[in-house]
Amino acid sequence: MTFPGTIVVGSHVWAEDPEVAWIDGEVVEVNDEEIKINCESGKTVIASTSNVFPKDSEAPPCGVDDMTKLAYLHEPGVLQNLRSRYDMNEIYTYTGSILIAVNPFQRLPHLYDNHMMEQYKGAGFGELSPHPFAIADAAYRQMINEGISQSILVSGESGAGKTESTKMLMRYLAYMGGRAAAEGRSVEQKVLESNPVLEAFGNAKTVRNNNSSRFGKFVEIQFDQRGRISGAAIRTYLLERSRVCQVSDPERNYHCFYMLCAAPPEDVERYKLGNPRMFHYLNQTNCYELDAVDDSKEYIATRRAMDVVGISTDEQDAIFRAVAAILHLGNIEFVKGNETDSSEPKDEKSRFHLRTASELFMCDEKSLEDSLCKRVIVTRDETITKCLDPDSAAVSRDALAKIVYSRLFDWLVNKINNSIGQDPDSRYLIGVLDIYGFESFKTNSFEQFCINLTNEKLQQHFNQHVFKMEQEEYTKEEIDWSYIEFIDNQDILDLIEKKPGGIIALLDEACMFPRSTHETFAQKLYQTFKDHKRFSKPKLSRTDFTICHYAGDVTYQTELFLDKNKDYVVAEHQALLRASRCSFVSGLFPLLPEESSKTSKFSSIGSRFKQQLQALLETLSATEPHYIRCVKPNNLLKPAIFENYNVLQQLKCGGVMEAIRISCAGYPTRKTFDEFVSRFGILAPDVLEGRCDEVTASKRLLEKVGLEGHQIGKTKVFLRAGQMAELDARRSEV
Ligand code: ATP
Ligand code: MG
Repeated sequence: MTFPGTIVVGSHVWAEDPEVAWIDGEVVEVNDEEIKINCESGKTVIASTSNVFPKDSEAPPCGVDDMTKLAYLHEPGVLQNLRSRYDMNEIYTYTGSILIAVNPFQRLPHLYDNHMMEQYKGAGFGELSPHPFAIADAAYRQMINEGISQSILVSGESGAGKTESTKMLMRYLAYMGGRAAAEGRSVEQKVLESNPVLEAFGNAKTVRNNNSSRFGKFVEIQFDQRGRISGAAIRTYLLERSRVCQVSDPERNYHCFYMLCAAPPEDVERYKLGNPRMFHYLNQTNCYELDAVDDSKEYIATRRAMDVVGISTDEQDAIFRAVAAILHLGNIEFVKGNETDSSEPKDEKSRFHLRTASELFMCDEKSLEDSLCKRVIVTRDETITKCLDPDSAAVSRDALAKIVYSRLFDWLVNKINNSIGQDPDSRYLIGVLDIYGFESFKTNSFEQFCINLTNEKLQQHFNQHVFKMEQEEYTKEEIDWSYIEFIDNQDILDLIEKKPGGIIALLDEACMFPRSTHETFAQKLYQTFKDHKRFSKPKLSRTDFTICHYAGDVTYQTELFLDKNKDYVVAEHQALLRASRCSFVSGLFPLLPEESSKTSKFSSIGSRFKQQLQALLETLSATEPHYIRCVKPNNLLKPAIFENYNVLQQLKCGGVMEAIRISCAGYPTRKTFDEFVSRFGILAPDVLEGRCDEVTASKRLLEKVGLEGHQIGKTKVFLRAGQMAELDARRSEV
């Protein structure tokens, strides 16, 4: 978007700046291609015409609560607006109906109060300051009034505040749709208390966030016809399993491990635990404690939340027994055994942990050892027992720890769902989605690939919606909108998930051929997609590939793609825990018909995830969506620091800039007739003479100044991109 002819000496403008992204100042010289600007900071900048944007000198210093109220809807204007609001602890801003939330990294007074909820109840949208409660209220109201299910999609990068926002939404919905329980715990209490339980088992400290959710979550709250909560269902996506066995500094393992080590002495004794520094799965990193978090209190709180969601004391005991068993499992080290290539526990200490793990799992000690150190191979004629070397035994141990943990997590989700209960007759629902945002790191593996697929799908959904909303606004105002172009990312989705022939399909194929490696897989990708405009092979690499995502290019390393896509339970592990004397543990490993044949059948994580996403999008498309875009203003996780570049990048990835672009493709400036006349009456004072209404005055004004391409709606004047600047420029000449 350029603003030709609108920038003259004396204009206030924004110019691109390598340090702060955009810098503002006054134009002192205009040449053909270049503009000289004196900046407020005292700096003089020479910028090329195409990189200079007009600045609205009448913009209120404290910003506007909705970006669409900005005279100029361009990148520097949007950024400046967010920034000036953030400086005053106004962390929420609308862009039309989208809520942008900038993480304050501090508790702000009153923001989360019950009193605040009361205020939003019944207030019209836009009447009060932007807030997640307003979004939840709009969703609830629309559901009741129009009888349509709703969804609220919360997105943003790690640490941006998705989970905190989601919890506020859930609280508000529980407040609106709650009812005192006749007996036992109410549905809404269980829904709210599911959060601390899932956080204990599914969140961990990472570099990016001290309480990072390592899974995606969709909470579906069901309502009866009177608008009261009648049931709920939680769906989770892709829990990060590798963290159970592998953590690097300065991150931590899942919170529950540290809580259990800090439990009251009788529990610690019962599970033979102690200092977390004793355990291999925890001591690979130097981080044990969290600022302002007391793990022993968290343990009690988690137990209490487990009570509320309906997990019995016996079940809680079994859960923590399994968690403790995993820690002991991790401490079993292996050395070479007597036979060639065999292994056995290293020493008395390892034997102690082996014994303890078997006691906690309530399974046979020897069977546990065998399941770690041996594999049974069944051929058509015979059954052979093969020994594993010490390294393979350690891999087998980690696989066991991971499968137990991931089954345990799924069990929790299931249990919570059963305890809350589904309402088969529910009229409508409000779904809240808290799912990982777009990721692009130095190295990107299969996890990033799946996460970015999610974001591509949600982006498509978002674009379609924003586009539709624009159309609706134009239809409502009865103006013509037919020429707005709309960029679709279907080609990227086809590249990834088309069947047959997409990347996931090719990965599954590779996983099924015993001789494939990541090299052969990468070669296959290069061959298949050599002409695809969204796919490329980085020059200096033999096995990486790059996808041109809507939010930018991401290069993926294929090394672990095959391994990470394979999901199977080692038959020996399945048999061992299936035989546990603890019904909870054996229940985590139900006998499936196909598994009875003792073969480890391949099942694809990528394909299953693709199906889950498909189901999620089907659910979403039957709802009216609302969006919250969370933004992380800095990577230090500290209050009051707003990094321009960082924020801009996130606005791009979250589709906020795209929504603005769609809006700019049409009529980004909308002024009510009132506003229009009072701002531009000065351009043609004569047309305002005599009595005429604002609509006529606006029409005459536009005619007089000779502006073309604008439209007159029912309540507003719609201007094309740049036209506002043109009028302002003329105004400054008057
Ligand atoms: P991840 O993808 O890693 O799970 P997330 O987007 O869910 O990240 P949150 O856990 O919600 O991020 O937020 C990170 C931290 O930021 C919180 O633990 C809290 O300290 C702070 N925070 C986020 N939102 C708010 C808020 N509205 N008020 C105060 N603090 C907040
Ligand atoms: Mg989170």
